[in-house]
Amino acid sequence: MSISKLDIQGVGMTSQRTRDRLMERLKAKGIKNSEVLRVMSLVPRHLFVDEAMSSRSYEDSSFPIGHGQTISQPYIVARMTELLLESDSLENVLEVGTGSAYQAAVLGGLVKNLHTVEVIPELYRQGRDLLYTLGYRNIRTHLGDGSWGWQDAAPYDAIMVTAAPDEIPSALIEQLKIGGRMIIPVGAQKSEQKLQVLTRSSESNYSVTDHESVLFVPLVGGN
Ligand code: SAM
Repeated sequence: MSISKLDIQGVGMTSQRTRDRLMERLKAKGIKNSEVLRVMSLVPRHLFVDEAMSSRSYEDSSFPIGHGQTISQPYIVARMTELLLESDSLENVLEVGTGSAYQAAVLGGLVKNLHTVEVIPELYRQGRDLLYTLGYRNIRTHLGDGSWGWQDAAPYDAIMVTAAPDEIPSALIEQLKIGGRMIIPVGAQKSEQKLQVLTRSSESNYSVTDHESVLFVPLVGGN
């Protein structure tokens, strides 16, 4: 895969000006963390969507990425990242659901080491290649069922899940450090899903707080 500097910079509807306008919209919608906005303004979202969609890639919308999956809406990416950044430490972070790899790229600009797991082989390969081409060397991509987490690099300071289970998988809780946070949408797709933040307070205890309503594709696999 080869991508030129000009491709990354973008022109017209993919230019820095268009990206900055999206950041203004995210601010107006309530995103406060300036680091999140700074990093998101630098990630070329137009390279993470289908070429036919690139002129719309800085709209605050989700788009299909094939295989029945979607790239998340920028507001949701910003909100989940903002919640993740409230963690005490961001040395070792896990994302479940690489998808287009856009959220991974945003996290890659903010955390020390990111592991991201995708279950669909084609999306895993595309994400891996794109992140490599764009120069992210602190992101490790993995192919597998992330509802079991990624044991080899556990425990994690923080975990972000970008597909919705009916219930939070226990393997993910077990791979979180004490004091660590997990940002996860929970609930069946057709009914109400809530963005939840789980904080692990001890070996056997954790607390969960509800945030906004969301609509994510289901987290597949697990038991
Ligand atoms: N983070 C993504 C992005 O920035 O484009 C959005 C991801 S999309 C909403 C959800 C992704 O989770 C899909 O690519 C889907 O294949 C993946 N997924 C669903 N269940 C999974 C599982 N058990 N393990 C890993 N990935 C999973």
